[in-house]
Amino acid sequence: MLTVGVDAARVEDRLAGGELSCPDCGGSLRPWGWARTRILREAVGSQAIRPRRSRCSECGGSHVLLPVCALLRRADAVSVIGAALALRAAGAGARRAAAVVDRPVDTVRGWLRRFAQRAEHVRVTFTSLLVGVGVDPVPPAATSSAFADAVAAVIGAFEAARSRWPNVGELPVWALVAAVTGGRLLAPGWS
Ligand SMILES: [Zn+2]
Repeated sequence: MLTVGVDAARVEDRLAGGELSCPDCGGSLRPWGWARTRILREAVGSQAIRPRRSRCSECGGSHVLLPVCALLRRADAVSVIGAALALRAAGAGARRAAAVVDRPVDTVRGWLRRFAQRAEHVRVTFTSLLVGVGVDPVPPAATSSAFADAVAAVIGAFEAARSRWPNVGELPVWALVAAVTGGRLLAPGWS
């Protein structure tokens, strides 16, 4: 699986032009049907997305192209999940975060628990991204929780990327997270 931009026409162009590379072997990916349609719940309303499937012209492997507004196996947009994570990092409890993002508290608890389990990995990954892309990088100071440290690293990496490449600013912070983690922020097996 691979994450791509949310502009479907642009994805088609890149696919047709052989611009997308196989994550396994680096060969060029070709269009190969579609994954099933899924409903992605946004902050307001929802949209149907139908990710493109692609096949590698070298190794023959198939890869679903997941838009960066979504996470693997999650029905809610990454912006909604990210908003709940940011609220938790700022000290809100699951119930309060659930009320703000307007989702069931059990669903939000599930996101928070999963993120907390990999907070250290998230912090390390995004801190190294921050240091790698920052013009004059200053890693965020440690806070009182691993959870908040991880969210601070995500936001720091986003700010660093934006100062280096101003057009990143058009991409929401949590879309960058979806891209960096290949959509697997809350899925098993992201490393
Ligand atoms: Zn390949």
